[in-house]
Amino acid sequence: MGKRIRVTVWNEFLEEKKDDRVKAVYPKGMHEAIAASLKMKPDFEVRTATFEQEEHGLSESILNETDVLTWWGHQAHEKVSDQIVDRVQRKVVEDGMGLIVLHSGHMSKIFRRITGTGCKLKWRDSGERERVWVVSPAHPIAQGITDHFDIGKSEMYGEPFDIPAPDELVFVSWYQGGEVFRSGCCFYRGLGKVFYFSPGHETYPIYFNPDVLRVIENAVRWSAPEPTPKPIRGNAKPLEEIPAK
Ligand code: ZN
Repeated sequence: MGKRIRVTVWNEFLEEKKDDRVKAVYPKGMHEAIAASLKMKPDFEVRTATFEQEEHGLSESILNETDVLTWWGHQAHEKVSDQIVDRVQRKVVEDGMGLIVLHSGHMSKIFRRITGTGCKLKWRDSGERERVWVVSPAHPIAQGITDHFDIGKSEMYGEPFDIPAPDELVFVSWYQGGEVFRSGCCFYRGLGKVFYFSPGHETYPIYFNPDVLRVIENAVRWSAPEPTPKPIRGNAKPLEEIPAK
């Protein structure tokens, strides 16, 4: 077996403590549900980190041992320290750490920083059906997903989604109320690969849905850094002699 992929599953982990509806679905927190599924893959090495831990659980040494970071946040976006956001961004752009931003993480500091846009969207929590359509069947993140899958109860996220045109679009969602949404978007930033995946409202058991978990597993594999040499930048000597002007 090749090198294992080291995954850090980050969750704000506030709503699970405060809101009984969320606690009922995720007694140990959404991060534990996501981590439990990833831990079943023998080639993944999985840890979790949460907002209330020191340095939000994302110290320099933990990030140095992280190939892919997943991010779920909602209420505390503005309370996440800029220093940690700088650190995560640097790890993505300069070291190629993969970043998977989930659901309400669309408004996180790190996602707005990475995309350079406002990242606002339309939303409605009516427990309606979401149908996730594969629009790039050959994409590694769509492997194992045939055509589409349904999420029985979901929060609607609708267009227009204020993001730059994604480098690759893997999924588009339709909702019972009529809206559509770019629900699976890939971005390349420096050496890093970033995937945004919208399903995951905290009061529904979406992180127990096998298709959703398969997408997250695929995204971990896709976004894990490649063992490529660092690009050469800065002032460069010519490769061939340049005749005098
Ligand atoms: Zn939500």
